[in-house]
Amino acid sequence: MNRRPVWIQNIGELATLKASQPGPKKGAEMSNLGLIENGSLWIEKGRIEAVGTTVQLKQAYAARIEEADVIDAGGGLVTPGLVDPHTHFVYGGSREEEFEKRLQGFTYMEIMNAGGGIHSTAEKTAAASFNGLYNEARVRLDLFLRHGVTTIEGKSGYGPNLETELKQLRVMQALNEKHPIDIISTFMGAHAVPKSYAGQEERYVETVINEMIPAVMEEGLAEFIDVFCEKDVFSIEQSRRILMAGKAAGLLPKIHADEIVATGGAELAAEIGAVSAEHLLKTGPAGIKAMAEAGVIACLLPATALFLGEEPADARRMIDLGVAVAISTDCNPGSSPTVSMPLVMNLACLMMKMTPAETLTAATYNAACAISREDSIGSLEEGKQADFVLWNVRSYRELQYRFGVNHVHSVWKRGELLVNGFNQ
Ligand SMILES: [Zn+2]
Repeated sequence: MNRRPVWIQNIGELATLKASQPGPKKGAEMSNLGLIENGSLWIEKGRIEAVGTTVQLKQAYAARIEEADVIDAGGGLVTPGLVDPHTHFVYGGSREEEFEKRLQGFTYMEIMNAGGGIHSTAEKTAAASFNGLYNEARVRLDLFLRHGVTTIEGKSGYGPNLETELKQLRVMQALNEKHPIDIISTFMGAHAVPKSYAGQEERYVETVINEMIPAVMEEGLAEFIDVFCEKDVFSIEQSRRILMAGKAAGLLPKIHADEIVATGGAELAAEIGAVSAEHLLKTGPAGIKAMAEAGVIACLLPATALFLGEEPADARRMIDLGVAVAISTDCNPGSSPTVSMPLVMNLACLMMKMTPAETLTAATYNAACAISREDSIGSLEEGKQADFVLWNVRSYRELQYRFGVNHVHSVWKRGELLVNGFNQ
């Protein structure tokens, strides 16, 4: 590991994302990027020691510049490393044949009810070896990194049984140790009712509560718990029981809510104090209001809406009513097989009418809040981890304007240069 200080200077636009108060950014504060023109960062032992203008830090560190690795950002844009707070990136197989079926007019739920969808991924994930899953997920993580992501959340949920659930979580744990991207794990045993439990949904809910949660906790494999609360999947009442059991065991609740049908998932998220509620395509004003009052973060996934041909979530109304919004790829083989947070930022603007500034907040600081990591990542401030991206553009506005392109130049994680655009 590089223990020399690193001095990044000549940053044309430094988006620090510094927050004026604790907790996620809401309303107008989502547009406050803490911009510094001609910015600079001084990094010691993987942490940010100072943030300011190039002139300020040049003066402050004049006596130490010789001992530092000096990086010239060439007038480019620097932002915090992107945070992807909602993925299912550990899975077996691929589902491109379903994609073609959907293009012919079959719906996602029709395919799932015919034994495809989550069930087909669950079978392939169960059949895959630990090493097979590990290697495929590692390749995906490398791609995330090249698209500027330095921290990612990952969910289990493709296990038709406890053994496969644990295998997915162990793969994430091993990758977290070996791969430079930090991985936050979420147990999502309640992603679908396995085929082997068909017609016995209640028995499966009991299995999740009484067998799976204790096994996950015993190995310390997860920090969050999530449920696919949806019509014909897990009801409000079942979701509440599972999430409360997880909470009692020490897991922080998240919830896939109101994605296909509005069943009251947003209200449930507010009721149980979930950290975030995900998707929210069909959430109405009452659900949004409940989330705002309870401080639940909305984690919106526009790539999924695009891929499924659905209307996106009502991000504008959420922001205007005071809900903190985060965005994510939802990387998964069925409804969003992308690893590109830059694309998701573009889609947040184009599909949900979020502004470029709100979009950057949603992909960095608020995304960090959605995985309870805002104390160490998500913004570039003294004492935080030195996770940041240098982009091949001069302003954050260009990132959203020149859409569909990966503008990443270089990526640092804990002060280490991991994606190096300087040699190209
Ligand atoms: Zn999901």
